[in-house]
Amino acid sequence: MPASVKLVAVSKYRPLADLQQAYDAGQRVFAESRPQEFAEKLKALPGDIQWHFIGHLQTNKLKLVLPYTYLVHSVDSLHLLQAIQDFCKKNNIKTKVLIEVHIGAEDTKQGFTPQEAEEIFEDPQALKSMYPDVSICGLMGMASHTEDAELIDGDFARIESLFHKIRSIHPEMQDFKELSIGMSDDWKIAVRHSATMIRVGSAIFDNGN
Ligand SMILES: *Cc1c(COP(=O)(O)O)cnc(C)c1O
Repeated sequence: MPASVKLVAVSKYRPLADLQQAYDAGQRVFAESRPQEFAEKLKALPGDIQWHFIGHLQTNKLKLVLPYTYLVHSVDSLHLLQAIQDFCKKNNIKTKVLIEVHIGAEDTKQGFTPQEAEEIFEDPQALKSMYPDVSICGLMGMASHTEDAELIDGDFARIESLFHKIRSIHPEMQDFKELSIGMSDDWKIAVRHSATMIRVGSAIFDNGN
């Protein structure tokens, strides 16, 4: 794996002991997907962990997540983006987020369509004034749930080209530089498609169990 790709250890549903073990082995970047579970783990583990949030986030759970999270990967609606802005303003904090883009074949997956995502960035000036306390740092996506590497390749190619397109149209958006794609079964493909962060759960935590 290129050193420039950040390995985010997805620790959802894993017991504290597993996280502690990964921590002791040197891992400092973890991701959770359920606010309540996240809040409990946060209290029990060392303070120098960089926490990421990757699950669907309901607006009434923001207080459990935003003050403690380095990056929210899963902003899947403008409603949520607005709620994050409102929370940040009220609590005098800033939050970094990624825009979740629906690239897989499944209907159920959350996120903006590529076209909707592109429209969000049509006017970066307006974005900045609407969401002054939220920094949009890039895109996140999940490939189709399949063993068909070609299909996965196509999914990642689509979000990669959208990512590069937005960057080339808006070089002034200096924070927009992260592409969070790739999980245990497809991270190698994701790295070939410009992933800057991969989110790996089972490949880390299932070993040795
Ligand atoms: C669970 C999860 C992962 C990790 O999946 P693995 O297949 O266990 O690596 C990555 N991203 C998201 C959004 C997840 O919910």
